[in-house]
Amino acid sequence: MAGMAEKGTVKETIQIFARVKPTREETSKVYSVNNDEAAGASVEFVVPKDLGDGYVNNKLENYKFRFRRVFDQTAGQEEIFETIAQPVADRVLAGYNGTIFAYGQTNSGKTFTITGGARRYGDRGIIPRTLSYLYQHIIQDSTMVYTTHISYLEIYNNVCYDLLDRQLEACRLEDLPTVTIMHDSEQNIQLRNLSIQQSANEEEALNLLFLGDTHRMTAETLLNKASTRSHCIFTVYLCGRQPGSATVRRSKLHLVDLAGSERVNKMALGGQLLTEAKYINVSLHYLEQVIISLSESRAHIPYRNTLMTSVLRDSLGGNCMTTMISTISVDKTNLKESMSTCRFAQRVALIKNEAVLNEEEDPVLLIARLKRENQSLRDELAMVTGEPRQEQLTQDEIQKLEVQVKDFLDDTDPEATLALGTDLQKIHRCFTLLKTIVSGLRQQLNTIQEKLGRANGTGNELTPLSAVATAPDFIPLNRAVRGILTSEKEETEKTRDQDTTAQLNGPRLSMGKEEAFEIFMRDHEDRLTIEDNKAVLKQRYIEAKGLGVQVNKTRDSINELKKQLEMRRIQRADQDHPEEEEQDPVEAIILKQVEAEKKKFKSYIGDLKTLRTEIQHVQLLMERAKVKLQKDFKEWWSEETPGPQDSGAPSSLQTGRPSPNSKPSSPGRPGSGGHSLSYFPAHKQEPYSHLPSATDLRSFVPKIQTMQTPSGDRPASSHQRGGSVLELTPQLRDLSSIKPADYSIPLTGDSRIDDDILAFVRARQNLLQRRDTPQQ
Ligand code: ADP
Ligand code: MG
Repeated sequence: MAGMAEKGTVKETIQIFARVKPTREETSKVYSVNNDEAAGASVEFVVPKDLGDGYVNNKLENYKFRFRRVFDQTAGQEEIFETIAQPVADRVLAGYNGTIFAYGQTNSGKTFTITGGARRYGDRGIIPRTLSYLYQHIIQDSTMVYTTHISYLEIYNNVCYDLLDRQLEACRLEDLPTVTIMHDSEQNIQLRNLSIQQSANEEEALNLLFLGDTHRMTAETLLNKASTRSHCIFTVYLCGRQPGSATVRRSKLHLVDLAGSERVNKMALGGQLLTEAKYINVSLHYLEQVIISLSESRAHIPYRNTLMTSVLRDSLGGNCMTTMISTISVDKTNLKESMSTCRFAQRVALIKNEAVLNEEEDPVLLIARLKRENQSLRDELAMVTGEPRQEQLTQDEIQKLEVQVKDFLDDTDPEATLALGTDLQKIHRCFTLLKTIVSGLRQQLNTIQEKLGRANGTGNELTPLSAVATAPDFIPLNRAVRGILTSEKEETEKTRDQDTTAQLNGPRLSMGKEEAFEIFMRDHEDRLTIEDNKAVLKQRYIEAKGLGVQVNKTRDSINELKKQLEMRRIQRADQDHPEEEEQDPVEAIILKQVEAEKKKFKSYIGDLKTLRTEIQHVQLLMERAKVKLQKDFKEWWSEETPGPQDSGAPSSLQTGRPSPNSKPSSPGRPGSGGHSLSYFPAHKQEPYSHLPSATDLRSFVPKIQTMQTPSGDRPASSHQRGGSVLELTPQLRDLSSIKPADYSIPLTGDSRIDDDILAFVRARQNLLQRRDTPQQ
């Protein structure tokens, strides 16, 4: 309550931290970290002179950069959260705006730091930990009523996308709704068309985070990994007020994962940059301009040059407490970039922000409060001066009273009142109404307790908690996310105990595709993640069950002790020992035991809550890994089975041999997806729709050595009947891993099918030639 009066402004420079990403390289001679200096901390690099200019001489040079603190390779996620994010979260809870942004080159650990790793619960980053922390406080703080909202946006090519759109299963970034920025006359920005979703608790907030992350992942363009070139801003909006007060505090917390900074230095690559690279440069370039202008206290700060700096305007030299995390990699090849990151941070550290307590009177609440006060004063006055009425209440009045009582009960404000005036009849009527409601509730409560008592042995106040813990479905699966992520409705109905293959297959696949999927999945890196997490989940369920049993036991033991206590008191009352009345040693012992058991009980419940959060998080990690696997498979499948239905297939053909982990590497896309049509003869049907699907696969899967004839409705010897046999070029041999003895692709004799096969082989050759001729 005292905090409410502490109006204030906090002037503070942007806090800078550095985090060194773990590496296997021997780097002890290359850099050192010192956290014990009076002035804070520093990281020092020892590098050959002129590193990066291509010329390396034997002289070494030292570069030292100061930070508030430097986290070396072994620093864990919890430590990062506690040192960097928790103080910011505390300020946000107190009504100040906060921003934490990660800056560094691609692969230096920005996403790992801000969002977390995709594999383990322990790797969760600043966002989930901060959410946990915020909601814990919100629940515990009974002096304030809070509402929280969340938005998540991605800025790519200077276009802002809403990652929390629930309607879409976006395949491309362009499918996501775009957000536009409006500047009002006071230069405040407003984001149009950004969905800001209410999130009442940690679970809902986590769901939104994973929903956004999944959109972010699935919408990544095939060839240009958008995540390295886009900025993501996750924002928590907090609104708090004291019950009954009209003063509200609104604060915002931006958690920002910036695009890879490496491109800032590579702006002029012969004037042949692709659009997205250019925009990324521009956007981080302008961030640098904004930082420079601010650090030199220039009159004009070019915030409006890009969307990113517009959105983060408050965070940079404005009403916000801002923290920067410089993520650096100390691998030898990355030292130069890491030093630029540190240099940039030194500039950032000069920027002064001025955070003000965002407190205001809510006019609607204020009017409501004044009206209430006015009414109660009138009532008081009437009570003193007025005459009590004699006639009965009318039906209309009774109905109105019922509504009033209902509204009163529904009002969450603990200081809400029932304004009844001086009319005693009305007051009596309301008491009667309340009495009826309370006895109804009591009856219901009794019934519930009886039922619970029957199910659990006894019925008392501890039962519901343990029932929650032992119920098989104690953690509801994440419906919201599931519903959005899975394309088929039946998919959501599947139980999580089904085997991974079945779960991951999603919509029913054709035979060939199914085989392919199995092979694909066997080698996929995320399969291990999924299996590991499945094992973790199993283990946690067992633990939760075990804890549930403990909770029950403890509860029983508390009840037992209470009974003993009761008995003891009765006995003593019967025996009538007045001299011992003061202190009964037996009773004291029992009471002590009760206390001990209660303590245990509390700790079990605490453990259960922690388990709950972990289980939920791991489930979401699995969901995401699953979506990623499906996405990777789709991409791989469309690479290997070109057809008009697979947009983008030709461009992806150039990646050559199928490898589940192969990532398209060429940034240049030879034409748009629509091109694929031109490689095939113009059939009305899809070229492969009449081929048994198992066969399209076999030529590409390394394990299967020979090209098989189409099975089923065609005779096995059909290729001989057709007579023509196509010889594979050496490149194709290499591509399809067919043994030397099996270099031929048998044609079927069906001219349409053969046309397709030939067209396909031609298309492949074309692409291979293109691949061999280097593209600009
Ligand atoms: P960025 O977002 O900067 O491009 P990422 O956060 O994606 O980089 O990190 C690149 C890879 O390194 C990821 O596989 C990530 O899991 C791993 N990684 C990054 N930082 C750490 C760390 N501190 N500990 C363990 N792994 C890390
Ligand atoms: Mg990243």
